[in-house]
Amino acid sequence: MCGIIGVFGSDRAAEIAALGLFAEQHRGQESCGIAASNGSYIKLCKQMGLVKEVFSNEVLEGLKGRVAIGHVRYPTCGSSSEYNSQPHVVETLFGPVFALASNGDITNYNSVKEKLQEKGVFFHSNNDGELLIRYIVYKIVYEHKTTIAAIRELMAEIKGAYSTVFMNRDELYIFRDPYGIRPLSVAEVSDGSYVAASESCALDLLGVKWKREVKPAEIIRINKQGLQIYENNAREMREGDSEKHCIFEHIYFARPDSFEYGENVYDVRKRIGAELALADDVKADVVVPVPDSANFIALGYAEKSGIPYEMGLIRNHYVGRTFIQPDQTVRDESVYHKFNPLSNFFTGKKVILIDDSIVRGTTLRKIVKLIKSKGATEIHLRIGSPAVQYSCFYGIDTPSQDELIAFQKDYREIVDFLGVDSLMYMSQEMLGRTVAFPEKYCFACFSGKYPVEIEENIRRKIIYKECDFSYHR
Ligand code: SF4
Repeated sequence: MCGIIGVFGSDRAAEIAALGLFAEQHRGQESCGIAASNGSYIKLCKQMGLVKEVFSNEVLEGLKGRVAIGHVRYPTCGSSSEYNSQPHVVETLFGPVFALASNGDITNYNSVKEKLQEKGVFFHSNNDGELLIRYIVYKIVYEHKTTIAAIRELMAEIKGAYSTVFMNRDELYIFRDPYGIRPLSVAEVSDGSYVAASESCALDLLGVKWKREVKPAEIIRINKQGLQIYENNAREMREGDSEKHCIFEHIYFARPDSFEYGENVYDVRKRIGAELALADDVKADVVVPVPDSANFIALGYAEKSGIPYEMGLIRNHYVGRTFIQPDQTVRDESVYHKFNPLSNFFTGKKVILIDDSIVRGTTLRKIVKLIKSKGATEIHLRIGSPAVQYSCFYGIDTPSQDELIAFQKDYREIVDFLGVDSLMYMSQEMLGRTVAFPEKYCFACFSGKYPVEIEENIRRKIIYKECDFSYHR
C-alpha cells in the first residue's frame, strides 16, 4: 500500500506535496520522496523514514518549483530499500526531466520488463513505478509518441493496479488503471493550483474549490493552459467489465475522513458494523473496538444493537500499525506496547470485541489474552470482513496464502486459537450491502476470484478451499 500526491501551479509545490504526504502517512511508513521541477530540471529527495523526519524546512527549500509529485511507501513489490522507493526520476541528455509516483502492483511486471530490457532499457530497481516510467519515457523518447499516446499504450499493455502521477519539467499527468483498483482524487485549490492525491483527506486541508475522483482509465494533463481530460478507450478493450475497486480500502486502509469510490469511508465502516449487529444475537455488556481501524465498525454495531460503545482498549499512536510492520519479530513484541486496557474496565464484563479483519491472527490472539487477563468473563469477536483466504496481488501486502489463518485453519480451530467464546465474520453478501455498487468491487482476498489477469510468475500458487466461516455458537 502506498500514497501519492501531485501538485501543479503553486510556488510552494513541494511544501504542499509534503503536507499531502503527511495526511497520507497511514498508507506507507517505510520511505517517502518528493520530486520537484524548477522548469529546467527535476530535483529529487527520497529517503527511508516518515514524512516529518525527511522533509525539514531546509530540505523543502532545496525543492523549489511549481510542479511536484510525492510518494509514501509500504513495500509490496521489491525489497524494503531506498532504491525501490519513489518517485522515480529518469534523465535524458537534457538532465532529469521525467518523474513518476504510483500506487498499486503491476500483475504482468516480468513480461513487460523483459520486453523493455530486450529493447535496451536498463532498470535500477524491482519497483512497479520504475516499470511505468521506463515504459512511458521509452515511448516518448525512442518512439516519438506524445505523453498522452504513451500512457494510452501503457494502459492497453500493462495490467494491474496503478494510480499514478507523472511529471515532466512543466506538466503534471494524472492517471488511473482501467479497473480503478486504488483510489485517486484531483482538486483545484483556491489559489488556482491543482492537486491530486490517493485520498481526499490529503486535499481537504488545502482549501479546495472543487474535487472529484479520477475515473478509471482517465488521463488528466495539467499545464499552463489549465486542466485537460482525455477519455481513454482502455475500458472498451475490456468490454463487459466493470470497475474493481479494492473493498479493503473501505474496511481498513483508507482514512475514515476520505471519500473513495463514491462513498464516505466513515459511513461504509458504520454500515459494516450495523450489518454485523443485524446478523447477531449475542447478549453482552459492551462493544469494544480494536483501535483505531475498527472504531467506526464498532460504533455502527453499537448503534444498531443498542449495546454501549466503549473504548476499553487504548492505543499508543506512536507505535506503527501492527499489520504494516514487515518483520514478524517486531510485530509480536509490539502488540503489548501498542494496546493497553483501561484499569478495571473489563472485570466481570461480557465483551463484544470488534476488529476489521483477521490476517494471521497472532495480534488478535494476544489482545484477547490481554483482555481476559483483565477479568472479562466472555469475549465475542466480530469481524468487519469475510475470512481472508487469498493473497492480494494489486498493491496490498497480505502475506502468502499459507500464512493466512483462514487458509490454515477451519472455523472451530480459529475460535480455539484466538481463545474467544464466539466468532462471527461477515459474509461477502453482507459486506456487499454496505456499498452502493458491490459489483464494482474486488473481493478477491475473500473469494479467490481475481478480476485482473495475473501472470504466472507473479501469481504464487493459489489453492482454493471450501470452508464454512459462518457464525457458530
Ligand atoms: S485482493 Fe483484497 S486487498 Fe487486494 S485489491 Fe482485491 S479486495 Fe483489495
